[in-house]
Amino acid sequence: MLTTSTTIPLLPGTAIPQIGFGVFLVDPEDTQRVVEDALAVGYRHIDTATGYNNEKEVGAALRASGIPREEIFVTTKLRNDHHKAGDVEGAFERSLEALGLDALDLYLIHWPMPANDRYVDTWKTFETFHADGRAKAIGVSNFQIPHLERLLAETEVVPAVNQVELHPIFQQRELRAFQDGHGIKTESWGPLGQGKYDLFGMVPVQAAAAAHDATPAQVVLRWHLQTGNIVIPKSNRRERMAENLDVFSFELSDDEMRAIDDLDENRRVGGHPDEIN
Ligand code: NAD
Repeated sequence: MLTTSTTIPLLPGTAIPQIGFGVFLVDPEDTQRVVEDALAVGYRHIDTATGYNNEKEVGAALRASGIPREEIFVTTKLRNDHHKAGDVEGAFERSLEALGLDALDLYLIHWPMPANDRYVDTWKTFETFHADGRAKAIGVSNFQIPHLERLLAETEVVPAVNQVELHPIFQQRELRAFQDGHGIKTESWGPLGQGKYDLFGMVPVQAAAAAHDATPAQVVLRWHLQTGNIVIPKSNRRERMAENLDVFSFELSDDEMRAIDDLDENRRVGGHPDEIN
């Protein structure tokens, strides 16, 4: 049975709460309040990135919450310009410093930036962070199958997760199957479609919401969880944070899951990994 505290095992000895809270586009001046609210409503997994410019404020919220460090799973990501410049060790240390942490639960390469062709070397540096214990798990984001294949062939540690755009009209089936075959966990960014299309008005989402007395956002998040994805919805509003976490009192039927599966159009709403360099 899925619960708020359901976790997915990563590398030996680590596990990620399947539902977390993302802070992309949360302004630095709002971030401490937003993250404190998220922790107060029950999230124990925070997803930030150096590129979001709010690591310092996330760190302040972690401390202000008074929640023991080991009870909160913290992810951040290597910023593209640091990756490009080969400033990987420095960037990692600055992230720890900004967050006020001795170790991260998960550190991700934010984008593969294939035209720069540095991600294999960058991953080898990530392996050192894992080996010395400063990153309990390491993973990637926005990697496509050929990028993962190169890491598997040329490096030692299998990425614990790949955090990718994933929502009902872009379900990443081929990538998910590949990752399942290699023990790489799938994490959905933009799980609610970033509000960029009328996901909540789609018939199967509406129908399941009516059947379970749930909101469309809850149905979509529940679909991610039952699919097996790690999910990190974002909202600045406390009532929506709570709504998005309140997805454990109902279960979508096989038919309801299939109807949402059938919404897949293999269509992104965000940037294409080949084009971000
Ligand atoms: P999302 O799909 O979580 O959508 C967020 C938007 O949905 C919010 O701004 C809000 O307007 C709306 N929303 C949230 N809850 C709602 C509710 N209950 N009812 C109605 N509307 C609601 O998009 P996101 O923030 O882009 O993605 C989630 C997280 O994923 C980010 O915060 C970030 O941590 C991560 N992310 C990672 C990458 C990457 O490249 N790795 C890219 C984008 C996002």
